[in-house]
Amino acid sequence: MITFLVMSSTGDPYTIYCDASGGRVAISCTCQAGELGQMCKHKATVITGDDSLLYDEGQRAAFNEAHAACQATSIPTLYEELSKELKVIDKEERVVRTEFKKRRNSTRGRFARMLSEGVS
Ligand SMILES: [Zn+2]
Repeated sequence: MITFLVMSSTGDPYTIYCDASGGRVAISCTCQAGELGQMCKHKATVITGDDSLLYDEGQRAAFNEAHAACQATSIPTLYEELSKELKVIDKEERVVRTEFKKRRNSTRGRFARMLSEGVS
């Protein structure tokens, strides 16, 4: 098991566990999202090789080892697919939000017109 520390937004460390054995790599993280089994930014750094959240320089060797282990699997490809899928979802969300905003403004506008025309 490869373990190393990453920095939380408050400066406290979280632990990344990277189990690389038998050609398989499993990554977990002790942050709140990670504990819930969700994808977190700390796990992402292991995949992308982004070392900006390393807790200190003492973590670098284990981080590099975990990153290299990931690179030998389909994780980078799968992560790229995830990123593309999330971009599509974000785009669709913006479209839906715009539609709701138009409906809200239209509904509010009808009420405002009614008020300006006078209500008995
Ligand atoms: Zn995490």
